Amino acid sequence: MSNKAIFLDRDDTLIEDPGYINHPDQVKLLDDVTKALIELKRMGYKLIVVSNQSAVAHGIVTEKVLGEIHNRLKQLLAEKGVFLDQIYYCPYHPDGAIPKYRKESDWRKPNPGMLLAAADEMDIDLSQSWSIGNSARDVEAGLRAGCKTILINRSSHYKQPDPCLLLAGTNPHYKSVNIKEAVNIIKKYHRSSGKPADQTQSAPAGQTQPLLQAVEQPRSSEPKEPAPAPSEQNAAGKRTEQLLSSILEQLKSTQRANMFGEFSIMRLMAGIMQIIVLFCLLITIWFLMSPTRQDNLVLIALGFAMLFQLMSLTFYIMHGRR
Ligand SMILES: [Mg+2]
Repeated sequence: MSNKAIFLDRDDTLIEDPGYINHPDQVKLLDDVTKALIELKRMGYKLIVVSNQSAVAHGIVTEKVLGEIHNRLKQLLAEKGVFLDQIYYCPYHPDGAIPKYRKESDWRKPNPGMLLAAADEMDIDLSQSWSIGNSARDVEAGLRAGCKTILINRSSHYKQPDPCLLLAGTNPHYKSVNIKEAVNIIKKYHRSSGKPADQTQSAPAGQTQPLLQAVEQPRSSEPKEPAPAPSEQNAAGKRTEQLLSSILEQLKSTQRANMFGEFSIMRLMAGIMQIIVLFCLLITIWFLMSPTRQDNLVLIALGFAMLFQLMSLTFYIMHGRR
């Protein structure tokens, strides 16, 4: 029986991406990554990291240090009870500074080489597997390997739409604001059994819409009849449509990012404390209106209201410093 896998991009999907990482101390897990990976393990998926590491070709990091960086990543996850099944990386780049690594490679995303190699070595059914990453390269590699794809578009981290995404015209099956939402998408996919894997054209309620409807490109390599050349006016209209579509998607992503980012236990506790304060104040009014009014009971109720109000403020402050 074949395995199923989640192919995970590394930078800005599992860990923070400060540019090029060239020291193990720079490895910082993103929020909710460990919880998400635990969920995916529970669902029976193998966890496989597939990462372009052109920093090796550019001479920024050696393969030895890269190994230490990946050991640090494994260690951070293992401390939380998460164990990666494998890490694949591509050290090559056609413009690399180091001759040994200066070349095109089938492993370099958007090529699907790393996913295909993993499928071969670990008996993975790619049609039952998912590719999760934050760039069009991750999406294209997943699509070409025959996986379902989720694009993480953490718009709160981008002041401008990622030009890589705008230009590639690669449609993911789904998109999410973080890995937590990606796991929810996979859970929903499993719950909606019988639905086709490709939800690009009509995503169910609560699921995400395709990212770049206006710039979708044919995925088939079959020859097609040449289309008539569009007039300049049509081309300008299409560009405007693409731009508006991208802006709309960014706004939707920001809204979802805020929705996922603002919740915390501290905030929940602060809200509960506020409700208790309101309850105490109502009791105070009831004591005041009572024909057998007792001032000590009024003071006690007011005291509790103040106490819970202080606790509520404390929780709000702790939320703010989180
Ligand atoms: Mg990335």
